[in-house]
Amino acid sequence: MDDHFPESYEDSRTRFLRSLSLIRQRWHSTQLETHPLKDFPDLSIDWLWAHPRRRENLVIVSTAEHGIEGFVGSAMMKVFIEEFVPRLNPENTGLLLLHAMNPWGMKHHRKVNEHNVDLNRNFVFDGDFDPAINPEFLRLKDFLNPQRGLESFGLENLRFWGNVVKHIFISGIPTLTTATLLGQHHTPNGFYHGGTDYEENTRVAMILYRRALEEYPTIVQMDMHTGYGPRYQMSVIVPPLDPSSSDELSKRFNYPLVQKINVEEFYAISGDMGEYFYRLRNAHFPDKRLFACGFEFGTFGDSLPARIRSLRAMVLENQLHWHGATDSRTAEKIHCEFKELYFPTETKWREKALADGRQAFQGILDSYGLLYDYPNDQIQQP
Ligand SMILES: [Zn+2]
Repeated sequence: MDDHFPESYEDSRTRFLRSLSLIRQRWHSTQLETHPLKDFPDLSIDWLWAHPRRRENLVIVSTAEHGIEGFVGSAMMKVFIEEFVPRLNPENTGLLLLHAMNPWGMKHHRKVNEHNVDLNRNFVFDGDFDPAINPEFLRLKDFLNPQRGLESFGLENLRFWGNVVKHIFISGIPTLTTATLLGQHHTPNGFYHGGTDYEENTRVAMILYRRALEEYPTIVQMDMHTGYGPRYQMSVIVPPLDPSSSDELSKRFNYPLVQKINVEEFYAISGDMGEYFYRLRNAHFPDKRLFACGFEFGTFGDSLPARIRSLRAMVLENQLHWHGATDSRTAEKIHCEFKELYFPTETKWREKALADGRQAFQGILDSYGLLYDYPNDQIQQP
């Protein structure tokens, strides 16, 4: 089981590159494309296009938009390539497999990219990176983005909880939730910074999505994330522009937990990638059929204390990155906690994540009539 979850960005990338030859056995013209990062050319965004003879359906699997989430993403990519790709039809179904949209973040165990930009807040459709959104974040900046080095973990923890109680009392939980999750374009060293222009990673993905819409009538995307939602139940998350309700989708996919990205069901996001894909379709390719979802593997859980623990991990990791810590044990503890938030070590968690990923791949692909059972065609990776 554990060999699904790679140790490093490099291991994950090597495994992805090896899968090329397997996919070529059935999609003979499969092409690997690589985009080395401008400032870190040893790190790259890699993807492969496997085109069918008749371009009817395209399945997209993408990972590590939030760098550190790419370890679980890599496990899901392996499941998809080994267990589902052999059941797709190379006559009429193509693949776009996108490994590590944010390779720097994956390599350095950060969620953001090398410019501290949260890429899932950077897909602003009209290019208006409005600094006026999320003024609550600015009001809470001393709490969410302290401009000082860290002292001992115990002291920082006490301070954090004191602030949480104070701000829940003053602002209320809904305001606090919006301030922390919506995204913002005004504080470059704060978390959920959506940038002030399109990032390199975002531009690469935008070109791929446009090409997908130009070349295929039906597109299904599954983008891998971790960190939000119940601990032992992955949520399939769907942008608000998708016309189906979460109940309809849950039935159609035979999958227990589907959530729309809105305040009622999930939380509001500005600059979300899936939403961008739908907007691009609506604006320029209205006759194309698109379903773009995220697999969101919950980790700490969705109770109020668990959500506060997640917030603590976000605040302290960001503060540590910018201002450092006076003692190495504090730094170590914060790094461990942050990793646990996006890449849990527990075997039971990992097994359930794999089971949920399989169930969702099965349900979604099946609902589009894309799965066949070919005899003796199980691909095993070397
Ligand atoms: Zn994510």
